[in-house]
Amino acid sequence: MTQSLRLVALKTSPPAFAPEQAEGFARALFGVSGEARPLYGERDQNFRIKTALGAGVILKILGPAEDPRTVELQLEALEHIARMDPRLPVPRVRRTAEGAAHGWVEDEQGTAHMVRALDFQPGKVMDGVEPGPELLRQAGATLARLNRALENFFHPAAGQRIVWDLRRIAEMRPFGALIEDAETRVLVEAVLDRFLNYLPQIGRLPHQLVHNDLHPGNMIVDEAERNVTGLLDFGDMIHGPRVFDIAVTAAETVGEGLGALDYAAEVVAGYEGVLPLRAGEAEALFECIIARHALSATIHAWRCQHDPEGAAKLGGLSALSAPAIEAYLTAGRDAVVAKFRAASASPARSDSAALRARRYHVLGRGLELSYNDPVHFVRGEGVFLYAPDGTRYLDAYNNVPSVGHGNRRVAEAVGAQMATLCANTRYLHEGVVAYAEAITATMPGGLDAVLFVNSGSEANDAAYRIARAVTGKRGAIVMKNAYHGVTELVAALSPYYGAQAQPRMSFVQELEAPDTYRGRFGGADAALAYAQDVERAIETLEGRKFGVAMLLVDSAFVSNGILDVPGGYFARIAEKVRQAGGLVVGDEVQSGFGRMGEAFWGFERHGVVPDLVTLGKPMANGFPVGAVVAKPALLEAFLGKIEFFSTFGGNPVSAAAAMATLNELRERGLAENARVTGDLLRAEIKGLRHDAIGDVRGAGLMVGVEITRDGAPDGALAKRIANGLRARQVLIGTEGPEGNVLKIRPPLPFAREHALILVDALETVLRAL
Ligand code: PMP
Repeated sequence: MTQSLRLVALKTSPPAFAPEQAEGFARALFGVSGEARPLYGERDQNFRIKTALGAGVILKILGPAEDPRTVELQLEALEHIARMDPRLPVPRVRRTAEGAAHGWVEDEQGTAHMVRALDFQPGKVMDGVEPGPELLRQAGATLARLNRALENFFHPAAGQRIVWDLRRIAEMRPFGALIEDAETRVLVEAVLDRFLNYLPQIGRLPHQLVHNDLHPGNMIVDEAERNVTGLLDFGDMIHGPRVFDIAVTAAETVGEGLGALDYAAEVVAGYEGVLPLRAGEAEALFECIIARHALSATIHAWRCQHDPEGAAKLGGLSALSAPAIEAYLTAGRDAVVAKFRAASASPARSDSAALRARRYHVLGRGLELSYNDPVHFVRGEGVFLYAPDGTRYLDAYNNVPSVGHGNRRVAEAVGAQMATLCANTRYLHEGVVAYAEAITATMPGGLDAVLFVNSGSEANDAAYRIARAVTGKRGAIVMKNAYHGVTELVAALSPYYGAQAQPRMSFVQELEAPDTYRGRFGGADAALAYAQDVERAIETLEGRKFGVAMLLVDSAFVSNGILDVPGGYFARIAEKVRQAGGLVVGDEVQSGFGRMGEAFWGFERHGVVPDLVTLGKPMANGFPVGAVVAKPALLEAFLGKIEFFSTFGGNPVSAAAAMATLNELRERGLAENARVTGDLLRAEIKGLRHDAIGDVRGAGLMVGVEITRDGAPDGALAKRIANGLRARQVLIGTEGPEGNVLKIRPPLPFAREHALILVDALETVLRAL
């Protein structure tokens, strides 16, 4: 049985329809009209149908032995890839007029053949291109993305029997004898035997659906020969060890300029930049690469006798087999593994400087870049960011990716929802309502209605409009140096910009910041003393006939320098504003979603329940979503007066991203982690006892470190420290009216070990001052 199956698979030759027939099939089945040009296929008969408009399609007429389930496997795998990693350049499947993934045609003998159509991928096939280091790394990285996209995919037909499955080498072993050149035969047979012995160890490595044939003939590259822009031929997919895939691409993506090992090392480095190899995979890779070469030589020898056209196709590759095997065996497995590791750790050519110049031209010099020596990232994972050369940076700055960079759950939720439906809030949608229910459930009673927008700025803008509509008043009270966003209105509510950039508006009043470290008041009475200022603000606004529509407060007091505000202060000013008929708006863009550790919402730490709460930044881990959470009567009154419609606000994709983020926060206990790690981090920084550290403040993973020289705030010194940390691959920022507060605000999966890396680097930088 085994024997006959194997021989069928080897011997089947593709169908032989004429191009005119193919043109007819394309038109009748897929509605595609164009000229058919034959392309080579090992088992299928392939045509490119060139249409007048667009790139056209590849028409595949399958051999009669082809199992419909393997066709279904390919179709479903391609659709899964498109959902998981929409930017991976895989062909899209064309469907028939009836919506089927394939149609049927008959040949002259009355044998039925399945016919499929895939979008043609323009560009040039990589075969024949001398691959430079960038392209080799791209090939490896693209394969890794493909593997990652297929990680959780399964289909019963993935157990298909194909001759290119290295686990079937025992069945192919007898054909080694067909290799004519005696030296090559001995070498190949030895490798086949060696692999048969090694095979049991491969069973322990990660398995998944693998492409199993991603050689340069199945990759399309751009004109510059730098990027992989297309992946082809998913006909050899099997469920098998992931390392098989790496072996094919590493073994066969070669040119003439370097040795086989040099090419492979770059491919592996590119792969590892996306998906690090697991224990045992590097060693297995060595074995699989030589086995793949031995298998190519064996299959070539068989075809020379039974399938001359197929043999000619394989000729070039099989000519490489023996020298490549020799190169690997001469170097030895340990040395090859070490070479792969060294390549993965070493930088590819970086073009950050060129990118910076291009950015200046198109985005302008005025658009700020962080750090004296700006950073350039291509990838993020958890609390780390990666530069193009693979250098890893600890991210202690970015609060937006709150559940970690590259979070799979959020990415998958976005991809899946985008591929399903993205519409607007004027249609019923379960996901949007479910998220609104979930987010209001995290807030104190009364905050039960949600208005969706796309950013923190928009949320604050909408909050002011609600406050105006509801109170009939116009005045707004904010903190000195507050930052609330970018719109014309919200900029007027953001004294942070400075009076020169943003002239003060008469309907806005600023409160003295309740800074007990540097401000006028400290000690037990500080809360009351600072709160007095709200009475002056209310009087001024009433005197100007604006009245008070709202008080807007960031309860983490970030732009004031991450203040530890005296207990009762916020509650006191809120009470006074309410007495004056104004609403209290909690800006939770910085302090929300568990960052402050001890409470999920920043306002809870102050014993205040706002009338409106504005959300943004970390809400969907980087996907743009904002919202106003309101007491229902307020939202109702507002929407009764004004037709409010935000095109993207509250779309199903943002809701899916936000829901996945909320679930991650909860299930991974990230608020609790913020509390524990934040406390540790503050304690460790205080423990450094350095003269430049004036004060260490904050809650959870919102940490402020006041930098002083002789007691005075020193913004320049704080900048030097932030740049010094950047040079040690740790990212933080600076903040506060004097710019002298180190702002440490990492993604929430930041754990003890990460805190210790940061503190170590900070100690080194401080010591070198
Ligand atoms: N409010 C606060 C407290 C913020 O820190 C910010 C952004 N830094 C905003 C609002 C504005 O959010 P966005 O940039 O998403 O519009």
